Amino acid sequence: MMKYVFVTGGVVSSLGKGIVASSLGRLLRERGFRVSIQKLDPYLNVDPGTMNPYQHGEVFVTEDGAETDLDLGHYERFIDTNLKQANSITSGRIYLDVITKERRGEYLGATVQMVPHVTNEIKDKIKKAAKETNAEILIVEVGGTVGDIESSIFIEAIRQFKNDIPKNDTCYIHVTLVPHLKAADELKTKPTQHSVELLRSKGIQPDVLVLRSDKSVPKSLKEKLSLFTDVAVENVIESKDCRSIYEVPLVMQKEGLAASVLAKLNLEDKVPDMKAWQEMLDKLISPSQNKLKIAIVGKYIKLSDAYISVSESIRHACAQLDRGVELEMVLSDELTDYSQLSKVFAEVDAIVVPGGFGDRGIEGKLLAIRYARENKIPFLGLCLGLQCSVIEFARNVLNLPDANSVEFDIDSPDPVIHLMEAQKNISDKGATMRLGLYPCKLLKNSKAYELYTEKDSADVIQERHRHRYEFNNAFKSQMEAKGMIFSGTSPDGQLVEIIELKDHPFFMACQFHPEFLSRPGKAHPLFFGLVQAAKQSILL
Ligand code: GLN
Repeated sequence: MMKYVFVTGGVVSSLGKGIVASSLGRLLRERGFRVSIQKLDPYLNVDPGTMNPYQHGEVFVTEDGAETDLDLGHYERFIDTNLKQANSITSGRIYLDVITKERRGEYLGATVQMVPHVTNEIKDKIKKAAKETNAEILIVEVGGTVGDIESSIFIEAIRQFKNDIPKNDTCYIHVTLVPHLKAADELKTKPTQHSVELLRSKGIQPDVLVLRSDKSVPKSLKEKLSLFTDVAVENVIESKDCRSIYEVPLVMQKEGLAASVLAKLNLEDKVPDMKAWQEMLDKLISPSQNKLKIAIVGKYIKLSDAYISVSESIRHACAQLDRGVELEMVLSDELTDYSQLSKVFAEVDAIVVPGGFGDRGIEGKLLAIRYARENKIPFLGLCLGLQCSVIEFARNVLNLPDANSVEFDIDSPDPVIHLMEAQKNISDKGATMRLGLYPCKLLKNSKAYELYTEKDSADVIQERHRHRYEFNNAFKSQMEAKGMIFSGTSPDGQLVEIIELKDHPFFMACQFHPEFLSRPGKAHPLFFGLVQAAKQSILL
């Protein structure tokens, strides 16, 4: 069995199509179907790896090392399934592959055209994703909004798709906005009518409409939309704003989204058991204990999407410990004076320094780390956060004032972070970092070992990476002598993966990105450890 559900968007962007697709994925999974989700992104970058986070938000990394859209993170968290390179496709990837095939002479002398060559490439990549992920139902989210020049070739490809396979093997969902006009105190359906008209003019009749709105959409408006759009009224689904993204699957279940999709796909519907999901949500939105304040010190904090997996991981861990959470986003560029930090972090229960690139904001991160180390505030450093922790320790504990990463100072006399051997002759920027899943061996009796092995006895863990620079082993013994513990390394001992500090309630940093593995109801051990430590230090 191989069924396809296409999700398009209309009227405006940022409607939360990815959350609707993810929620549907969860609902289908809860019914026992094997589900995967693919994103088709209209931009010309081959992947988002080379984009500034302010352009695009976080770059999510899959276990096979693909640098992808942040929606893949939502997909994985909602369907609790690891995705692959095949789940993330951009226009850039499609054109690159078509042109590469043309240069190789694979089109046998044909004039290479948007239709059929580019559309065939898109359709092949959709089928490949379904096959590679072994899905029974593949949900395909088309980025952008119907009518955009950029996404029009994807719309054309998914139009053709339905003619290549049996009628009941595809379902088209269109997610649109029903705005509320304050002055008239009315919900307006006209933008949705126009958007569906546009979609139909491209040859796609939606089977299901999902109406995003901040108010309840009355039955009469659903009937009106059904009349204008030829979508059966029971398939006009309301998706009102929720308290948490994790509430959306439950709301969609009540509204009958999965039932409508399954009816179109000619598959039997079942009542899913959403009890565990409901319990997770209850703890997330109404925890019984009061809030922890956790600071994220980074340089992209003006766009909350830039650290979305980190924020979600903190939320998962807090929910699991039945604590509320308030995230305090601190712009590292603005931390310039150590004596001011006691004010900035006065109410903060834990500090996280996430990943990043380039030297802007580094000195502020170093100050925040020093503050966490000296004041015994629970701390977690992620990737660049580990590298900064090492620099801070070298400068202030080993008294090496010019210690640095060669990423920021190529001539540093004490390059405590240096370029990995495998990176030395690389000049291309795209997809050339150390990417994806690598093993890490844990040191017995360390905090990391204790946290990871609580659930699982294995002392070799697998985590996802995205970096070029690494700890310089020449400084290892000096640091060890002053209380740094190297609690995780590559199995051959050559690459430092986790550090922690003696005589500190919780000071932990890792070269990998644990935030990509945290799931609601299954918090990642390192985030769990951080929140647990924050909780304990409050009780002291
Ligand atoms: N810039 C650092 C490196 O390339 C850290 C990368 C990151 O935080 N993802 O190694």
